[in-house]
Amino acid sequence: MSSRRWSILAAALLATVAAAVLVVVLVGDDAEKARKDDGARVASRFAKNHPFVVESSGRGRVAAVSSHSRRSPNAYSGIEPGQQRYSSCSDPWVTAAIRRVINTDHNAVGKACDPYLYGRARWTTFDDLVAKVRTRLADCRDPWVTLAVMEVFNRVAQPFDCDLSQYGGGRWNGYEQLKNLVADKTNGNHPPPDRDWKVLVLVYVNTQLPAMTFPDGRAVSGTPLSASMTKPDGSKSTVDHVRQTAREFASKARSLSGQRMKVRLFIAEIRRPISSLTPEGSGHYLGPSDIRQELDAYAPEGRYDSVIAVWRNDDGTKQGPNLSGVGSTGLGLATARLIGTPQARYTDGTNGATYAMVTLPYNHGRFGGGVEPASSILLHEWLHGVEAVYRDWTPQWANAFPNCGDVFLHCAGSYGFTFQTGPGWDRWYEQQMRGTVSGRFGVPADAWARGGPRTQR
Ligand SMILES: [Zn+2]
Repeated sequence: MSSRRWSILAAALLATVAAAVLVVVLVGDDAEKARKDDGARVASRFAKNHPFVVESSGRGRVAAVSSHSRRSPNAYSGIEPGQQRYSSCSDPWVTAAIRRVINTDHNAVGKACDPYLYGRARWTTFDDLVAKVRTRLADCRDPWVTLAVMEVFNRVAQPFDCDLSQYGGGRWNGYEQLKNLVADKTNGNHPPPDRDWKVLVLVYVNTQLPAMTFPDGRAVSGTPLSASMTKPDGSKSTVDHVRQTAREFASKARSLSGQRMKVRLFIAEIRRPISSLTPEGSGHYLGPSDIRQELDAYAPEGRYDSVIAVWRNDDGTKQGPNLSGVGSTGLGLATARLIGTPQARYTDGTNGATYAMVTLPYNHGRFGGGVEPASSILLHEWLHGVEAVYRDWTPQWANAFPNCGDVFLHCAGSYGFTFQTGPGWDRWYEQQMRGTVSGRFGVPADAWARGGPRTQR
């Protein structure tokens, strides 16, 4: 978006009524993204309209699970850990290799099925895969414990998972009993989980998109695009602003949650320019496969709960590609945790973290023309991941996020919240994060205590 257009919008926002309308333009370009269980294709579920515009008939409507809450491949059943019944691995080689390593006919399920865990889904022979599986299952001293953690909690094992004494004093009779012990949340011997959300913000200073075409040969408008957050004089002011915005997001998350959780923020400035986008719907977005090398270098499986990529999709004079059919003013997109797809050799997975991309226009100084805090767009996109993680974890928590024809995060209007110039939607986010929407909806208090996807148990 050009700076001129921003200023036009900002001027127009002087009118209160206009503000309510224009916020639709400024914030409404966000979208929700999810994938079908088979991971075979992107389930196009991008909000076509402003996320906060909801049907009045949706007011107060409560449904168990959002109709479009297609579960990410990392979250299968929404049944309590320990009672989860995942599908067997879709890749028979992975199943066979795990069987070889643990020397039984076990059919692996859950996170153990993620091929990217094993040499990033690249192996030359079956023996090579077996070696890679053996390495992964050595995360904990006992490969069965490593496997149980991956199957029960749907994540890789963390060091605190590997203290065998917490599982029945280190004694169990058979794998099923071990899994039950691993899942036993009432076991007082379990060390408390890390309830912080470790969030990595990747700041892409440069964008260098080539001239792009759609599969049918049509040119992708807005390309080629050459943009930078660094001004020609070498000033880093835009980068600094993004960093400051990220810090504000982190402290806002903590305060809005009522100190129930904390974002532990990490920021990485990336010099490699954004040079590709991923097709999505009628447009594109900056997907995990477009930043694969940074994801793998900075955010390997199990290191972060969330990754947010911030980049520029304008050069100060013109807007870049249409972001996923949600309009040329697209600002942010969020996904749940994704394993990835075989077609992309699983390089479109998110390494177990929630993922969001946010574009911050040049000279955006006060994001949203000053009508809402810049940090709120980061918060909003990140909250999509939070909702997806907790919603998919247990049926009880899924009930805490009733849909209104859209994901709960977009249901502010259903509960009577309105946009306010200044704080924007922060009051809504506050109640959502405290689980006090209508007295009971939003993130349940005990959910934060269970941590994020990195350590959830
Ligand atoms: Zn949204």
